[in-house]
Amino acid sequence: MDKFFSQKFCDRCGGSLEQGRIMSMLNTDCICLACKEKEKTRSDYEEAAKAELEEIKKGNYNYKGIKG
Ligand SMILES: [Zn+2]
Repeated sequence: MDKFFSQKFCDRCGGSLEQGRIMSMLNTDCICLACKEKEKTRSDYEEAAKAELEEIKKGNYNYKGIKG
């Protein structure tokens, strides 16, 4: 998690994270907001979001995402 807050570039596109950073829903990548928007349009995004919610309900806060 330390890397998440200290890294300066998006894991996905290599762009700057100055505009903001967010954890990917599909794995533990730290991505920029543009990549997050793109991720939301993926056909499996909803499935990933649902799977993560289920894991959190079960008490698994270390869930790495469906592709992680
Ligand atoms: Zn990016």
